[in-house]
Amino acid sequence: MKGKTKSLTRLIDELAKMPDIGPKSAQKLALYILKLSKEEAEELTGAIREAKEKIRYCSLCQSISEEETCEICRDITRDRSLICVVEEPTDVMIIEKMGKFKGVYHVLGGAISPLEGIRPEDLKIEPLAKRIKEDKIAEVIVATDPDNEGEATAIYLAKILKPLGVKLTRLGLGLPMGGDLDHTDDLTLSRSLEGRREL
Ligand code: ZN
Repeated sequence: MKGKTKSLTRLIDELAKMPDIGPKSAQKLALYILKLSKEEAEELTGAIREAKEKIRYCSLCQSISEEETCEICRDITRDRSLICVVEEPTDVMIIEKMGKFKGVYHVLGGAISPLEGIRPEDLKIEPLAKRIKEDKIAEVIVATDPDNEGEATAIYLAKILKPLGVKLTRLGLGLPMGGDLDHTDDLTLSRSLEGRREL
């Protein structure tokens, strides 16, 4: 396209691959990056490089960690018999911010979505089943998003995990249908955790 250089086009194309970033936002971000000083630009690329090098997935809960197991899984004061199942590591951060949950987590890495081609076998369901079989788990709280994909995932989890004889619950009413945990305030989230119902 005229008026753009090859390297600017490349930068915009890379940015446009990011979630929720359309072509217009990608252009805006690219222009912002162009205006950065050389040091600021190096801070940004350095942060990306460091995160990619250091961050891996916790071998227990599959959330992000810089060590073999994450901070929460290593914390001996947490109740290991209570597992809260979420879609993404960001959901762990949201629930932790609320400060009411004292159990541990399991991160699926997404939700079942025929539209996006995400199948149950693409999610970390097998490691969850393994944890339930091997550890003394009293309850599994399914905290996938209250949208179609999250509900489909909850139903699938119930089918797979119920035969293992574990108590399965789902976050209670009050969560806006079609929404996600990211956009739920702490009070609503905390109420839905208290009001969880059996799956
Ligand atoms: Zn962990």
